[in-house]
Amino acid sequence: MAGIYIHFPFCRQACHYCNFHFSTQTKYQQQMLTAMHAELILRKDELDKPIESIYFGGGSPSLLPASSIEKIIRLISNNYKLKEGHEITLEANPDDMSLKYLKDLKYSGVNRVSLGLQSFHDDELKMMNRIHSADQGLKAIEWTANIFDNYSVDLIYGSPKSDYRSWEYNLDLTLSFDPPHISSYALTVEPKTVLFHQVENNKIELLDEEAVKIQYDLLISKLGKASYENYEFSNFGKPGYQSVNNSNYWNGKPFIGIGPSAHSFDGDKTRSWNISNNIKYLKSIEKGDLPQTKEVLKVYESFNEFVMIGLRTKGVSLSHINDSFGHKYGLYLEKQVVKHLADHRLFWDGDVLKVSQQSKFLSDGIAADLFMLRG
Ligand code: SF4
Repeated sequence: MAGIYIHFPFCRQACHYCNFHFSTQTKYQQQMLTAMHAELILRKDELDKPIESIYFGGGSPSLLPASSIEKIIRLISNNYKLKEGHEITLEANPDDMSLKYLKDLKYSGVNRVSLGLQSFHDDELKMMNRIHSADQGLKAIEWTANIFDNYSVDLIYGSPKSDYRSWEYNLDLTLSFDPPHISSYALTVEPKTVLFHQVENNKIELLDEEAVKIQYDLLISKLGKASYENYEFSNFGKPGYQSVNNSNYWNGKPFIGIGPSAHSFDGDKTRSWNISNNIKYLKSIEKGDLPQTKEVLKVYESFNEFVMIGLRTKGVSLSHINDSFGHKYGLYLEKQVVKHLADHRLFWDGDVLKVSQQSKFLSDGIAADLFMLRG
């Protein structure tokens, strides 16, 4: 199976923590749509497997009218082979939502909405420079739950304005809607963001790691009790509602990324990504050229990625490592895990290496310790 990711690179306002590619200069939106249509046609023979997921991300694809979304979906279904029962997700900001828009989206073919709520506290939303208010977030989730069976809610924990109680409130209020899927990420400080400068200049003081871990533990415990499966470090789904888009990505399935900065993977060893510049992207596509950079992954890079994703999801199978990467890699892994096994951070479940419940928060750091630095 395969997927298509569409990156719509415009936002009304820049969130202070965000390092995705987007522009707040929205005047090229129409040209961007034309170019993305052209890129979809240019690449229509790239995937030889049926499409299981179409994902509208960004940026803010909910800035687009439902009719534009529908045109893209129609263009894809006319030029690509779609698998029956395919998932079509649209990332949406609460300030773009209305009952009418949600109904129109459903009519356009979108069958899953991923709602960027982040918090139900105005001071936190303001600190992050989110454009929406807590009240708009509340209305957006009410409307979304009304129109869509399948939807997801994004929440951010560990922000400087948060504490145990405020985070508990966010979780309880979200769970009162019983959403089928929740994605929850710790607020991270990325280079070149406003938040980065605020922290550098001591304008904002971050929570310490222990306080963030306490919030993560609360997330795991509350969502576990509410019957969500934690199928990836930050992702939680009710049975039958795991994101097809996310799961395909973690399972190494091929996908093409359309639009500036969008990444693609051939399902084997080759990654590519489009230029992260709207004007250069538009000019290149106008000439019929794909503004892409390609990279063939080295064996040790694929191994590192496999270990990282495995520890964040269902574990790392030693026999898979031996079969796919060679015994050198299996032996290396067995040597690297010794101290983590002794410290009960990792354990073997048969031939599968997993992170213990109490060490989940440390998954990425543990994975980094198992990486091979070169082949
Ligand atoms: S709306 Fe999303 S993509 Fe746009 S700035 Fe905020 S976090 Fe980034």
